[in-house]
Amino acid sequence: MSEKLFDRVALIGIGLIGSSLARALRRDSPGTAIVACARRPATLATVRRLELADETTEDPAIAAAGADLVVIATPLSAYAEIGRRIASALQPGAILTDVGSVKQAVVRDLQPYLPAGVHFVPGHPVAGTEHSGPEAGFAELFDGRWCILIPLPETAPEAVAKVGRMWERFGMRVITMNADHHDKVLAVTSHLPHLIAYTIVGTATDLEDSLKSEVIEFSASGFRDFTRIAASDPVMWRDIFLNNREAVLEILQRFNEDLTALQRAIRWGEGDKLQDLFTRTRAIRRSIIEAKQA
Ligand code: NAP
Repeated sequence: MSEKLFDRVALIGIGLIGSSLARALRRDSPGTAIVACARRPATLATVRRLELADETTEDPAIAAAGADLVVIATPLSAYAEIGRRIASALQPGAILTDVGSVKQAVVRDLQPYLPAGVHFVPGHPVAGTEHSGPEAGFAELFDGRWCILIPLPETAPEAVAKVGRMWERFGMRVITMNADHHDKVLAVTSHLPHLIAYTIVGTATDLEDSLKSEVIEFSASGFRDFTRIAASDPVMWRDIFLNNREAVLEILQRFNEDLTALQRAIRWGEGDKLQDLFTRTRAIRRSIIEAKQA
C-alpha cells in the first residue's frame, strides 16, 4: 500500500477540482482522513452520498482545525473571507495550499491572514473540464498534466516538496514559478482562449434567429469546440478575469493588434501573409502533441 501523504486533509470547496483531489487521495493515500467543506447543504449531501470525505461541514474553520494540509478549492472571490475565517483554526506546522487559476491575487488575499508557523504553498493544478460540482470530479483528471507551485520567499522548501510529492503521486508533473510569471503564462494559454470562446459564442447568440439555428446545425465545422470552452463555469471565469486583470488586458492588446493585421491581410488579398501564419500555427499544434499535452 502507498505511504500516507497526510494525516488529515481539509478540502475547502469540493467541486470539480476538490472532489477530484478527494478521489485521488482515496485512491493513492487511503489512510488520509478527508474533511470536506462547502456552502450548500446539498453539495455536502452529494459528497456524503459519493463517500468522498470522512467528515463534512459548512464551516471552513471546523474543516481546517487539526488538518495537516488545508486546500482551498473555491472560486477566487471566496478566498479572502475563507482566509479570515480559518486563520485562528490553522494548526502550527500545517500547510495551506490552493488550486486557484490566478496566483498573485491568491497571495494578496490569503497572506495577510496567515498565522506564524503555517506554511503557505500556493498551487495550480493545470487540469480541468468545463463541468462543475462534486459529481464532475475524477481521480485521473491530474494524469500527465502540469501542477505549478508558487513558493514564496518565506515558504519552507520541505513544505513545497511535500505538496509537490502529493501532486506527483496523482500523476502530475510539478514545476515552480513566481506568481507574476504564472499569471502571464496562464493569461496566454488559458484566459485569452476562454475570453475568445465566450466572445464567439456570445456573437452567435446575438445573431438573428434564422442564422442562429444554422449555426447550431453546422457547429461541427469549428464552432462546437468553442461552445465546449464557453460552457465553463461563469462564476469561476468571472473571478479569473477580475483577478488577472493586468496580464489579460496586456495580452488582449497584443491579440487585437494581430487580429487587425489579419483583417488587413484579408482585405488586401495578401494570401501569403495568411498562409505564413497558418503554417506557423500548425507547427505549434505539433509541438503540443509531442509534449503529450493534446
Ligand atoms: P466548482 O466545481 O464550481 O466548485 C466550487 C466549490 O467551492 C463548491 O464546492 C462550492 O460549494 C465551493 N464554494 C463556492 N463558494 C464558496 C464560498 N464562498 N465558501 C465556501 N465554499 C464555496 O469549482 P472548480 O471548477 O472545482 O474550481 C475551483 C477552483 O479551482 C477555482 O479557484 C478555479 O480557478 C480552480 N481551477 C479550476 C479548474 C477547472 O477547469 N474547473 C482548473 C484548475 C483550477 P457550493 O456547492 O456549496 O457552492
